[in-house]
Amino acid sequence: MTLAKRFASAPLEGSDLRQPPSAGATYRGRFAPSPTGPLHAGSLVAALASWLDARAHGGVWLVRMEDVDTPRCVPGAGDTILRQLEACGLVSDEPVLWQSRRGTLYQKALDQLVAAGRAYPCACSRKDIEAALEAQGVVRQRHQGAVYPGTCRPGRGGLRGKAPRAWRFAVDALGSVVHWTDRRLGPQAQDVAAEVGDFVLKRADGLWAYQLAVVVDDAAQGITHVVRGEDLADNTARQILLQQALALPTPAYWHTPLVLGDNGEKLSKQNGAQPLDLSDPRRALSRAARTLGLPAPGLDSVAELLAAWTKAWPA
Ligand SMILES: [Zn+2]
Repeated sequence: MTLAKRFASAPLEGSDLRQPPSAGATYRGRFAPSPTGPLHAGSLVAALASWLDARAHGGVWLVRMEDVDTPRCVPGAGDTILRQLEACGLVSDEPVLWQSRRGTLYQKALDQLVAAGRAYPCACSRKDIEAALEAQGVVRQRHQGAVYPGTCRPGRGGLRGKAPRAWRFAVDALGSVVHWTDRRLGPQAQDVAAEVGDFVLKRADGLWAYQLAVVVDDAAQGITHVVRGEDLADNTARQILLQQALALPTPAYWHTPLVLGDNGEKLSKQNGAQPLDLSDPRRALSRAARTLGLPAPGLDSVAELLAAWTKAWPA
């Protein structure tokens, strides 16, 4: 059955469920899926958690489509996600923002970083980076990301006449240990210089990197609270460094537990997670609520379930 057909038979509860945020709300949260496919059980957990946290704080909840990685995006997937969310009673309080249309803003942020000496062009191919690391005697575990060796740093000789490919953030080695407290995971720390190195802001293929787009948009949308999947937690330190370099506020973070597949690995589009079956949105929502440690109130409608979980939410 196609999604459209399934939705046609689903109760039209979504449109009645918009509980406007209280006047003068200061909390602004968001759910920011990548439209690389329909929502699955794992992404619904992040969507529900961010919505409940916003409502429990009397705040605003936004949906943002993180479609900067255009080759990975699937045409129509964004609209499918919005319809899936609506079937679950989760509707953005403001117009949905699409990152693919916001390149001008990201460029402005990059220009600002370049002017401040915090970003520089890089001519390295993946092969160049591997070779430089090998020359430095760096032994890397399989699947471990390469820490950029700093080859094109302006202080280290820059491009040496080569054509720029990507743009990188210059991590200040002196201030590279980032400490932050996650509302669920507790105190966190990462040494970005040692563990990541100068990370990419604009890719060699001209596309904007996730880190820059997220930081620019969270600030532009006035996001005060980020609630997202735990698989994204290790991006937080990089994002905080970018916020500081751009003189932007740092939101509060809450990373949700991950839904594991039968193989014990994180459920994701990459490992073949099935799209949500929304013939009965209450079932999908209840499963997500269980992952979040919420009670099963045994209620009839999506609206009643959401209201009960909002009350139970540990704001
Ligand atoms: Zn380079």
